[in-house]
Amino acid sequence: MQLQDSLGRPLRDLRISITDRCNFRCTYCMPRENFGPEHDFLAKEEILSYEEMASVVASLLPLGLAKVRITGGEPLLRRDLPVLIAMLRDLDSELDIALTTNAVLLERHAEALLKSGLNRITVSLDAVETDLFQAITDSKNTPEEIFKGIEKAQQIGLPVKVNCVIKKGVNDSQIVPLTQACIERNITVRFIEFMDVGTTNNWNLDSVMSGDEMRGVLRDHFGPLEPKKSAHPSDVARLWHLPDGSKVGFIESVSKPFCGDCSRARLSAHGSIYTCLFSEKGFDLRGVLRFGAEKEEIATIIREIWTHRENRYSELRTQLKEKRQPVEMSFIGG
Ligand code: SAM
Ligand code: SF4
Ligand code: SF4
Repeated sequence: MQLQDSLGRPLRDLRISITDRCNFRCTYCMPRENFGPEHDFLAKEEILSYEEMASVVASLLPLGLAKVRITGGEPLLRRDLPVLIAMLRDLDSELDIALTTNAVLLERHAEALLKSGLNRITVSLDAVETDLFQAITDSKNTPEEIFKGIEKAQQIGLPVKVNCVIKKGVNDSQIVPLTQACIERNITVRFIEFMDVGTTNNWNLDSVMSGDEMRGVLRDHFGPLEPKKSAHPSDVARLWHLPDGSKVGFIESVSKPFCGDCSRARLSAHGSIYTCLFSEKGFDLRGVLRFGAEKEEIATIIREIWTHRENRYSELRTQLKEKRQPVEMSFIGG
Protein backbone atom coordinates (compact mmCIF):
# COMPACT_ATOMS: atom_id res chain seq x y z
CA MET A 1 0.00 0.00 0.00
CA GLN A 2 1.19 3.51 -0.80
CA LEU A 3 2.75 5.44 2.07
CA GLN A 4 0.47 8.08 3.63
CA ASP A 5 0.99 10.64 6.38
CA SER A 6 -1.35 11.20 9.34
CA LEU A 7 -3.63 13.33 7.11
CA GLY A 8 -3.74 10.76 4.29
CA ARG A 9 -1.24 12.55 2.04
CA PRO A 10 1.16 10.42 -0.07
CA LEU A 11 4.90 11.11 -0.54
CA ARG A 12 5.02 11.75 -4.29
CA ASP A 13 7.51 14.53 -4.59
CA LEU A 14 11.07 15.05 -3.31
CA ARG A 15 12.92 18.36 -3.58
CA ILE A 16 16.68 18.05 -3.26
CA SER A 17 18.78 21.09 -2.41
CA ILE A 18 22.15 20.16 -3.89
CA THR A 19 24.03 23.24 -2.66
CA ASP A 20 23.43 26.08 -0.19
CA ARG A 21 25.49 28.48 -2.35
CA CYS A 22 24.17 30.93 -4.92
CA ASN A 23 25.48 33.45 -7.46
CA PHE A 24 22.55 35.79 -6.60
CA ARG A 25 21.65 37.45 -3.34
CA CYS A 26 17.91 37.88 -3.89
CA THR A 27 16.75 40.27 -1.21
CA TYR A 28 13.83 38.03 -0.21
CA CYS A 29 15.86 34.81 -0.06
CA MET A 30 19.58 35.37 0.68
CA PRO A 31 19.93 39.05 1.66
CA ARG A 32 23.60 40.07 1.52
CA GLU A 33 23.53 41.35 5.12
CA ASN A 34 22.99 37.76 6.23
CA PHE A 35 24.72 35.88 3.41
CA GLY A 36 27.87 38.00 3.03
CA PRO A 37 31.54 36.93 3.03
CA GLU A 38 31.40 36.04 6.72
CA HIS A 39 28.51 33.57 6.23
CA ASP A 40 29.43 29.96 6.96
CA PHE A 41 28.37 27.98 3.92
CA LEU A 42 28.53 24.20 4.17
CA ALA A 43 31.96 22.62 3.66
CA LYS A 44 32.32 20.10 0.82
CA GLU A 45 32.32 17.09 3.14
CA GLU A 46 29.14 18.28 4.86
CA ILE A 47 27.17 18.21 1.61
CA LEU A 48 25.63 14.97 0.39
CA SER A 49 27.40 13.31 -2.53
CA TYR A 50 25.40 12.48 -5.67
CA GLU A 51 25.59 8.79 -4.74
CA GLU A 52 24.04 9.55 -1.34
CA MET A 53 21.25 11.59 -2.94
CA ALA A 54 20.57 8.79 -5.40
CA SER A 55 20.37 6.27 -2.50
CA VAL A 56 17.65 8.36 -0.86
CA VAL A 57 15.70 8.53 -4.13
CA ALA A 58 16.11 4.77 -4.68
CA SER A 59 14.73 4.09 -1.21
CA LEU A 60 11.69 6.30 -1.85
CA LEU A 61 10.68 4.94 -5.26
CA PRO A 62 8.97 1.83 -3.83
CA LEU A 63 7.06 4.11 -1.42
CA GLY A 64 5.39 5.97 -4.30
CA LEU A 65 7.87 8.72 -5.21
CA ALA A 66 7.08 9.97 -8.72
CA LYS A 67 8.88 13.30 -9.01
CA VAL A 68 12.22 14.81 -8.03
CA ARG A 69 12.99 18.52 -8.22
CA ILE A 70 16.62 19.58 -8.07
CA THR A 71 17.06 22.95 -6.43
CA GLY A 72 19.22 24.90 -3.98
CA GLY A 73 20.81 27.50 -3.56
CA GLU A 74 21.68 27.64 -7.24
CA PRO A 75 21.90 24.04 -8.48
CA LEU A 76 23.87 24.93 -11.64
CA LEU A 77 26.76 26.07 -9.43
CA ARG A 78 27.40 22.49 -8.37
CA ARG A 79 29.84 20.67 -10.61
CA ASP A 80 28.68 17.81 -12.86
CA LEU A 81 24.96 18.09 -12.19
CA PRO A 82 24.23 15.92 -15.28
CA VAL A 83 25.95 13.05 -13.43
CA LEU A 84 23.30 13.20 -10.69
CA ILE A 85 20.48 13.44 -13.22
CA ALA A 86 21.81 10.42 -15.13
CA MET A 87 21.99 8.43 -11.85
CA LEU A 88 18.36 9.28 -11.07
CA ARG A 89 17.28 8.48 -14.62
CA ASP A 90 18.98 5.06 -14.36
CA LEU A 91 16.93 4.33 -11.25
CA ASP A 92 13.61 4.86 -13.02
CA SER A 93 12.90 5.75 -16.63
CA GLU A 94 9.46 7.12 -15.66
CA LEU A 95 10.61 9.39 -12.81
CA ASP A 96 9.73 13.05 -13.48
CA ILE A 97 12.99 14.99 -12.98
CA ALA A 98 12.75 18.79 -12.85
CA LEU A 99 15.23 21.57 -12.10
CA THR A 100 14.65 25.01 -10.54
CA THR A 101 17.32 27.55 -11.49
CA ASN A 102 18.00 31.25 -11.80
CA ALA A 103 19.26 30.34 -15.32
CA VAL A 104 22.45 32.44 -15.32
CA LEU A 105 24.38 29.29 -16.29
CA LEU A 106 21.60 27.60 -18.24
CA GLU A 107 22.75 28.43 -21.77
CA ARG A 108 26.07 26.70 -21.02
CA HIS A 109 24.58 23.57 -19.44
CA ALA A 110 21.22 23.00 -21.17
CA GLU A 111 22.38 20.35 -23.65
CA ALA A 112 24.17 18.22 -21.08
CA LEU A 113 21.14 18.44 -18.79
CA LEU A 114 18.80 17.25 -21.53
CA LYS A 115 21.13 14.40 -22.54
CA SER A 116 21.38 13.19 -18.95
CA GLY A 117 17.60 12.73 -18.75
CA LEU A 118 16.19 15.96 -17.28
CA ASN A 119 12.49 16.38 -18.11
CA ARG A 120 11.89 20.08 -17.50
CA ILE A 121 13.10 23.36 -16.07
CA THR A 122 11.56 26.08 -13.94
CA VAL A 123 13.35 29.40 -14.25
CA SER A 124 12.98 32.04 -11.54
CA LEU A 125 12.69 35.53 -12.99
CA ASP A 126 11.32 38.39 -10.89
CA ALA A 127 11.66 41.35 -13.28
CA VAL A 128 12.12 42.14 -16.96
CA GLU A 129 13.43 45.65 -16.28
CA THR A 130 17.20 45.46 -15.89
CA ASP A 131 17.56 47.93 -12.98
CA LEU A 132 14.86 46.25 -10.96
CA PHE A 133 16.17 42.76 -11.79
CA GLN A 134 19.64 43.77 -10.59
CA ALA A 135 18.25 45.37 -7.43
CA ILE A 136 16.19 42.28 -6.52
CA THR A 137 18.90 39.74 -7.30
CA ASP A 138 21.68 42.02 -5.99
CA SER A 139 23.74 41.01 -9.03
CA LYS A 140 25.14 42.48 -12.25
CA ASN A 141 23.35 39.96 -14.45
CA THR A 142 20.53 40.97 -16.79
CA PRO A 143 17.12 39.58 -17.80
CA GLU A 144 18.53 39.20 -21.35
CA GLU A 145 21.01 36.62 -20.07
CA ILE A 146 18.19 34.73 -18.40
CA PHE A 147 16.10 34.79 -21.58
CA LYS A 148 19.13 33.49 -23.55
CA GLY A 149 19.26 30.48 -21.23
CA ILE A 150 15.51 29.97 -21.58
CA GLU A 151 15.68 30.19 -25.37
CA LYS A 152 18.54 27.69 -25.52
CA ALA A 153 16.53 25.21 -23.43
CA GLN A 154 13.48 25.69 -25.64
CA GLN A 155 15.51 25.27 -28.84
CA ILE A 156 16.80 21.87 -27.76
CA GLY A 157 13.37 20.71 -26.57
CA LEU A 158 13.55 21.14 -22.78
CA PRO A 159 10.18 22.46 -21.56
CA VAL A 160 10.48 25.68 -19.52
CA LYS A 161 8.18 27.48 -17.08
CA VAL A 162 8.92 30.79 -15.37
CA ASN A 163 8.30 31.49 -11.68
CA CYS A 164 8.11 35.04 -10.36
CA VAL A 165 7.79 36.01 -6.68
CA ILE A 166 5.80 39.23 -6.36
CA LYS A 167 6.54 41.51 -3.44
CA LYS A 168 4.02 44.33 -3.09
CA GLY A 169 5.50 47.74 -3.90
CA VAL A 170 8.71 46.14 -5.17
CA ASN A 171 7.99 44.30 -8.44
CA ASP A 172 4.21 44.31 -8.95
CA SER A 173 4.96 46.65 -11.90
CA GLN A 174 6.45 43.55 -13.64
CA ILE A 175 3.28 41.43 -13.68
CA VAL A 176 2.07 42.70 -17.07
CA PRO A 177 5.46 43.00 -18.89
CA LEU A 178 6.65 39.61 -17.63
CA THR A 179 3.38 37.99 -18.71
CA GLN A 180 3.78 39.59 -22.15
CA ALA A 181 7.41 38.46 -22.43
CA CYS A 182 6.37 34.90 -21.56
CA ILE A 183 3.39 34.85 -23.94
CA GLU A 184 5.73 35.97 -26.78
CA ARG A 185 8.00 33.00 -25.99
CA ASN A 186 5.19 30.51 -25.48
CA ILE A 187 6.06 29.98 -21.79
CA THR A 188 3.67 29.67 -18.85
CA VAL A 189 4.52 32.17 -16.12
CA ARG A 190 3.50 31.43 -12.52
CA PHE A 191 3.27 34.23 -9.99
CA ILE A 192 4.15 33.31 -6.40
CA GLU A 193 2.94 35.03 -3.25
CA PHE A 194 5.86 36.20 -1.12
CA MET A 195 6.23 33.71 1.76
CA ASP A 196 7.57 33.90 5.31
CA VAL A 197 10.25 31.24 4.78
CA GLY A 198 13.44 31.43 6.84
CA THR A 199 14.15 34.21 9.31
CA THR A 200 16.13 36.76 7.31
CA ASN A 201 13.79 38.21 4.68
CA ASN A 202 11.79 40.66 6.87
CA TRP A 203 8.50 39.15 5.76
CA ASN A 204 5.25 40.80 6.77
CA LEU A 205 1.71 40.37 5.54
CA ASP A 206 1.64 43.91 4.06
CA SER A 207 4.36 42.94 1.57
CA VAL A 208 2.29 40.02 0.23
CA MET A 209 0.36 40.65 -2.97
CA SER A 210 -2.38 38.05 -3.14
CA GLY A 211 -3.21 36.00 -6.23
CA ASP A 212 -6.58 37.81 -6.37
CA GLU A 213 -4.78 41.16 -6.50
CA MET A 214 -2.37 39.92 -9.17
CA ARG A 215 -5.27 38.63 -11.30
CA GLY A 216 -6.88 42.08 -10.88
CA VAL A 217 -3.77 43.67 -12.45
CA LEU A 218 -3.86 41.18 -15.35
CA ARG A 219 -7.61 41.60 -15.85
CA ASP A 220 -7.24 45.40 -16.06
CA HIS A 221 -4.69 44.96 -18.85
CA PHE A 222 -5.70 41.82 -20.76
CA GLY A 223 -9.41 41.39 -19.94
CA PRO A 224 -11.22 38.69 -17.91
CA LEU A 225 -9.39 35.54 -16.72
CA GLU A 226 -10.99 32.09 -16.63
CA PRO A 227 -9.90 29.43 -14.11
CA LYS A 228 -8.61 26.15 -15.55
CA LYS A 229 -9.11 22.81 -13.80
CA SER A 230 -5.83 21.48 -12.35
CA ALA A 231 -4.40 18.28 -13.80
CA HIS A 232 -3.35 16.90 -10.41
CA PRO A 233 -4.48 17.88 -6.86
CA SER A 234 -0.87 18.26 -5.66
CA ASP A 235 -0.04 20.85 -8.39
CA VAL A 236 0.99 23.92 -6.43
CA ALA A 237 0.05 26.36 -9.20
CA ARG A 238 -3.56 27.08 -10.08
CA LEU A 239 -3.82 27.90 -13.79
CA TRP A 240 -6.00 30.57 -15.39
CA HIS A 241 -6.60 31.45 -19.04
CA LEU A 242 -6.17 34.94 -20.44
CA PRO A 243 -8.69 36.01 -23.14
CA ASP A 244 -6.20 35.00 -25.92
CA GLY A 245 -6.01 31.46 -24.46
CA SER A 246 -2.53 31.76 -22.90
CA LYS A 247 -2.07 30.30 -19.43
CA VAL A 248 -0.92 32.08 -16.27
CA GLY A 249 -0.39 30.27 -12.96
CA PHE A 250 -0.61 31.45 -9.36
CA ILE A 251 1.03 29.86 -6.35
CA GLU A 252 -1.09 31.27 -3.55
CA SER A 253 0.44 29.62 -0.51
CA VAL A 254 -0.36 32.56 1.77
CA SER A 255 -3.92 33.53 0.72
CA LYS A 256 -5.10 30.05 -0.43
CA PRO A 257 -2.96 27.44 1.34
CA PHE A 258 -2.76 24.01 -0.28
CA CYS A 259 -1.43 21.91 2.63
CA GLY A 260 -4.32 19.45 2.21
CA ASP A 261 -2.73 18.11 -0.99
CA CYS A 262 0.94 18.60 -0.05
CA SER A 263 2.89 15.49 -0.98
CA ARG A 264 6.37 17.08 -0.85
CA ALA A 265 9.39 16.09 1.22
CA ARG A 266 12.67 18.00 1.11
CA LEU A 267 16.25 16.79 1.36
CA SER A 268 18.57 19.60 2.45
CA ALA A 269 22.08 20.12 1.10
CA HIS A 270 23.52 18.65 4.29
CA GLY A 271 21.35 15.56 4.11
CA SER A 272 18.43 16.17 6.47
CA ILE A 273 14.91 15.27 5.48
CA TYR A 274 12.18 17.86 6.12
CA THR A 275 8.46 17.24 5.81
CA CYS A 276 7.48 20.92 5.38
CA LEU A 277 9.03 24.07 3.93
CA PHE A 278 8.43 25.73 7.29
CA SER A 279 9.95 22.98 9.44
CA GLU A 280 12.29 24.09 12.19
CA LYS A 281 14.05 20.75 12.38
CA GLY A 282 14.83 17.94 9.98
CA PHE A 283 15.93 14.34 10.42
CA ASP A 284 19.64 13.74 9.79
CA LEU A 285 19.84 11.11 7.06
CA ARG A 286 23.49 11.90 6.28
CA GLY A 287 24.70 10.20 9.44
CA VAL A 288 22.65 7.11 8.60
CA LEU A 289 23.84 7.09 4.98
CA ARG A 290 27.49 7.45 6.00
CA PHE A 291 27.06 4.64 8.50
CA GLY A 292 26.41 2.40 5.51
CA ALA A 293 22.62 2.06 5.75
CA GLU A 294 20.98 -0.07 3.04
CA LYS A 295 18.16 1.22 0.86
CA GLU A 296 15.57 -0.70 2.91
CA GLU A 297 16.82 0.84 6.17
CA ILE A 298 16.56 4.36 4.76
CA ALA A 299 13.05 3.54 3.52
CA THR A 300 12.06 2.32 6.99
CA ILE A 301 13.25 5.58 8.58
CA ILE A 302 11.44 7.78 6.06
CA ARG A 303 8.30 5.65 6.29
CA GLU A 304 8.30 6.21 10.08
CA ILE A 305 8.82 9.99 9.69
CA TRP A 306 6.16 10.34 6.98
CA THR A 307 3.56 8.26 8.79
CA HIS A 308 3.72 10.71 11.73
CA ARG A 309 3.70 13.83 9.54
CA GLU A 310 1.09 16.41 10.56
CA ASN A 311 2.49 19.58 8.90
CA ARG A 312 0.08 22.17 7.58
CA TYR A 313 1.85 25.39 8.46
CA SER A 314 0.30 27.58 5.75
CA GLU A 315 -3.19 26.70 6.93
CA LEU A 316 -2.27 27.56 10.53
CA ARG A 317 -0.03 30.58 9.84
CA THR A 318 -2.41 33.25 11.16
CA GLN A 319 -3.31 31.29 14.31
CA LEU A 320 0.23 30.53 15.44
CA LYS A 321 1.32 32.74 18.32
CA GLU A 322 4.88 31.70 19.17
CA LYS A 323 7.89 32.97 17.16
CA ARG A 324 9.30 30.20 14.96
CA GLN A 325 12.78 29.59 13.53
CA PRO A 326 12.18 27.83 10.19
CA VAL A 327 15.24 26.88 8.10
CA GLU A 328 16.32 29.11 5.21
CA MET A 329 14.90 28.45 1.72
CA SER A 330 18.37 28.26 0.11
CA PHE A 331 19.26 25.48 2.55
CA ILE A 332 16.10 23.38 2.46
CA GLY A 333 15.40 23.94 -1.25
CA GLY A 334 12.58 26.03 -2.70
N1 SAM B 1 18.26 29.40 -7.13
C1 SAM B 1 17.21 28.72 -7.77
C2 SAM B 1 16.14 29.68 -8.23
O1 SAM B 1 16.09 30.82 -7.75
O2 SAM B 1 15.33 29.26 -9.05
C3 SAM B 1 16.59 27.59 -6.94
C4 SAM B 1 16.40 27.83 -5.47
S1 SAM B 1 15.25 29.12 -5.02
C5 SAM B 1 15.30 29.02 -3.26
C6 SAM B 1 13.71 28.34 -5.46
C7 SAM B 1 12.52 29.24 -5.57
O3 SAM B 1 12.17 29.73 -4.30
C8 SAM B 1 12.72 30.48 -6.45
O4 SAM B 1 11.72 30.48 -7.45
C9 SAM B 1 12.52 31.63 -5.51
O5 SAM B 1 11.95 32.73 -6.14
C10 SAM B 1 11.62 31.01 -4.45
N2 SAM B 1 11.65 31.74 -3.19
C11 SAM B 1 12.72 32.03 -2.42
N3 SAM B 1 12.35 32.74 -1.32
C12 SAM B 1 11.00 32.89 -1.40
C13 SAM B 1 10.02 33.53 -0.59
N4 SAM B 1 10.34 34.14 0.54
N5 SAM B 1 8.73 33.48 -0.98
C14 SAM B 1 8.38 32.85 -2.13
N6 SAM B 1 9.25 32.22 -2.93
C15 SAM B 1 10.55 32.25 -2.59
FE1 SF4 C 1 19.64 32.28 -5.12
FE2 SF4 C 1 17.36 31.28 -5.95
FE3 SF4 C 1 17.54 32.31 -3.50
FE4 SF4 C 1 17.67 33.95 -5.56
S1 SF4 C 1 15.93 32.67 -4.98
S2 SF4 C 1 19.05 33.96 -3.79
S3 SF4 C 1 18.66 32.71 -7.07
S4 SF4 C 1 18.59 30.54 -4.22
FE1 SF4 D 1 3.31 21.61 2.38
FE2 SF4 D 1 4.20 22.76 4.62
FE3 SF4 D 1 3.74 24.25 2.44
FE4 SF4 D 1 1.68 23.22 3.82
S1 SF4 D 1 3.12 24.74 4.55
S2 SF4 D 1 1.94 23.20 1.57
S3 SF4 D 1 2.56 21.26 4.48
S4 SF4 D 1 5.28 22.61 2.64
